[in-house]
Amino acid sequence: MSVLVFVEGFNGEIKKSSLEAATYGYQVAQQLGTSATAVAIGEVHEDALAKLGEQGISKVLYDADSRLNDFVADAYVKVIAKAAQQENAKVLVFSNSNIGAAVGAKLAVRLNGSLATNVTTLPKTDGGFIVTRSVFSGKAFAEVNLTSDVKIIAVKKNALEIANAGSGAATIEKFSAELTDADFVAAPKETIMQDTSGGVLLTEAEIVVSGGRGLKGPENWHLVEDLAKALGAATACSKPVADLDWRPHHEHVGQTGIAVSPNLYIAIGISGAIQHLAGVNSSKVIVVINKDPEAPFFKAADYGIVGDAFDVVPKLIEAARALDK
Ligand SMILES: Cc1cc2nc3c(=O)[nH]c(=O)nc-3n(C[C@H](O)[C@H](O)[C@H](O)COP(=O)(O)OP(=O)(O)OC[C@H]3O[C@@H](n4cnc5c(N)ncnc54)[C@H](O)[C@@H]3O)c2cc1C
Repeated sequence: MSVLVFVEGFNGEIKKSSLEAATYGYQVAQQLGTSATAVAIGEVHEDALAKLGEQGISKVLYDADSRLNDFVADAYVKVIAKAAQQENAKVLVFSNSNIGAAVGAKLAVRLNGSLATNVTTLPKTDGGFIVTRSVFSGKAFAEVNLTSDVKIIAVKKNALEIANAGSGAATIEKFSAELTDADFVAAPKETIMQDTSGGVLLTEAEIVVSGGRGLKGPENWHLVEDLAKALGAATACSKPVADLDWRPHHEHVGQTGIAVSPNLYIAIGISGAIQHLAGVNSSKVIVVINKDPEAPFFKAADYGIVGDAFDVVPKLIEAARALDK
């Protein structure tokens, strides 16, 4: 019996959220007195895979089939199911990314397992396998007991620190699920990659700089972009900003957009409507810049600056650039 962690790559590196899943998987393995293996799919640098040893992963099963470079749910499920069977894995750990949540759900059906998404804690294993889930857009927590033989956990992003278990390099084993063309029938004809700001993927970013209608128009977006560049952050926006075509829709965060949970979320000229907060309220630190002291976002903020964005943001950009020197 072992714990199997599915790790996702981006630009050949392992995503931060997958390093968190690896950390989680190793800690569960320790609780259960077993080892943690990872499975990786598509184009990921082998040295990045070997470094998973730092999170406590002892072995990585690596399926380098180039047809898997783009996400195809059924093919991914087949690879991970075969890896789980080979390793006799009873606990499967994913990041609660779009891919992780989708594959986790399909695997739960295929392996007759139980799935808990948005998990924020390690399991309590005395008298069951009880994990805590974040529910209702982060407004509440639910405890669930996974009672089936196979347990599938999608770990909420940024819910735990990446730990260095320090056990050296993981061994890499070539792995193949012997996929046929039939496994790729449902593959997308065209893959649309999300634009990234300075190579930073919005869903993985440590820092997000986000703008709202208070910025008046797309011609002022250099303020968001320059601050993001100075901080190594990704850019985001409120829904009306995307609806107005000031920014592309894949930058829209919130209930109907992307959910982000960076270490730092900087909101510029955003009122803080409940639908916006639903996608950002699990950020570790929230900084709000708004000229209206009554703006609802200040209630959710760790730090607030009451002021005109056109005065405040240039000063922040200057200060952030000075930090770099
Ligand atoms: C079903 C549904 C789903 C929705 N989903 C989402 C969602 O996913 N994401 C989302 O964002 N919204 C969503 N909305 C819309 C949401 O209710 C708000 O209307 C929206 O978030 C407001 O965007 P905003 O804060 O950019 O604009 P506004 O509400 O117009 O706020 C602009 C803010 O900028 C401030 N401001 C103005 N000028 C300046 C200045 N010079 N300097 C500093 N501050 C200034 C103002 O004081 C104000 O607080 C949804 C709504 C519905 C009904």
